[in-house]
Amino acid sequence: MSPTTCPLNRGKTILYWLGFIRSALFGMPVRVITFRRTPHPAAFKSKGIRIVSLWSKGLDGLAEQEEIWTALSLLDQHEPIHTRRVIKYIRTIFLAPFVGGGAYIQVGKICLINLAQLPVNCSARERIIAIAALLVHEATHGVFLHRGISCLGRNRHRIERICDLKQTDVLNRLA
Ligand SMILES: [Zn+2]
Repeated sequence: MSPTTCPLNRGKTILYWLGFIRSALFGMPVRVITFRRTPHPAAFKSKGIRIVSLWSKGLDGLAEQEEIWTALSLLDQHEPIHTRRVIKYIRTIFLAPFVGGGAYIQVGKICLINLAQLPVNCSARERIIAIAALLVHEATHGVFLHRGISCLGRNRHRIERICDLKQTDVLNRLA
């Protein structure tokens, strides 16, 4: 049975708890860093989401926070169901240059994004759509993890495929 067709391992297995502990260990210092950063004011006020940057004191950080906010607003305008999922499962969007694309930390509902990993030869609009789709991908990881379904072991490929499908769906709908 291929990894994409095998059923998900449900229930809080040992792999789930290993992932949870890893998430807590990594999430705690990340939370400390993000709470010391100033969140994007409009996103925090209207959606309750903290968009923060490792470089929040620099102009680059502010421009990147604004890009994320524009992507979230575009998603809200066209895909309210996906937006509700993002708001429910992501409390902090952390612009972190040390991750490859995106990552999700269950403890603290933190989504890490590295905008430097986006394709360089795309337009400003394409960048915004790609960010919106990436947020949906990471929020979908949150749905599984908060239902107690591990994203490790044999579940990994299957869940990644489901997250990729949601991401592609948003890319196509917003294009
Ligand atoms: Zn993923």
